[in-house]
Amino acid sequence: MTNTSTALVTGANKGIGKQIARLLAEEGFRVYASARDPQRGAEAVAGIPGDVRFVQLDVTDPASVAAAAKEVGELDVLVNNAGILVGGANPAEAAVDDFRRTYETNVFGVLAVTNAFLPALRRSACPRIVNISSGTGSMTQSAAEAFAATGGSGAAYRSSKTALNAITLFYAQALPGFRVNALAPGLRRTDLNERAQQADGDPAEAAAGAVRLALLGDDGPTGGFFSWDGRTVPW
Ligand code: NDP
Repeated sequence: MTNTSTALVTGANKGIGKQIARLLAEEGFRVYASARDPQRGAEAVAGIPGDVRFVQLDVTDPASVAAAAKEVGELDVLVNNAGILVGGANPAEAAVDDFRRTYETNVFGVLAVTNAFLPALRRSACPRIVNISSGTGSMTQSAAEAFAATGGSGAAYRSSKTALNAITLFYAQALPGFRVNALAPGLRRTDLNERAQQADGDPAEAAAGAVRLALLGDDGPTGGFFSWDGRTVPW
């Protein structure tokens, strides 16, 4: 990548997304650090050193997505990081609305943002898409293992990340020349939910894993699911 490469990060005002924006700026990218709240978001990204520009982007709002794509113009790296975790762990007791809200952001938001920025990414010499997923979206664990490993993360959340993983694979198949991968960041201390708020994991460590996928060479993998430290995660 040249030092004029550009990257856009969704949900860059805090947590893992803010750290991804910071590290990409350190790598010499022009970073469009986006957030849904125009005032709080702009204030939050103002402190990130480097060529960092704030863009208002609510991934669930089609007008906001279209305006952001128009404002950004050129793009080499898209990091779909914005995500929410709502609702309980047991799907048998879940409110359908929790699933709807979760999918609006974690699945439909990624589709809307990715498709809006595809024309710009197609003009890039080295287009990269990094989807911030979760190990809790993996289908390989038994229900008991998954519950223990995730501390009972929401059923809506976990299944939304499973869908995101599938979408990652399908984009990789549909976009020759791109590198499209999903990242399992590991449990990190962020505002995502109560458990994350009490976690020890440093969000910057997970962000480094995302940046590694953003910097993949043309011989790098595509359509993969990787942990923050580069191991392959089973779908
Ligand atoms: P945070 O809650 O700290 O950050 C989530 C970010 O997403 C915030 O910037 C939030 O903005 C933004 N966001 C939510 N909804 C929207 C929307 N509609 N449009 C634009 N931005 C939105 O959590 P994390 O940093 O932990 O989460 C980042 C990603 O990492 C998520 O995809 C999450 O699923 C994933 N992840 C996190 C793990 C962890 O342990 N922390 C583990 C596994 C995966 P606002 O401030 O306005 O709410």
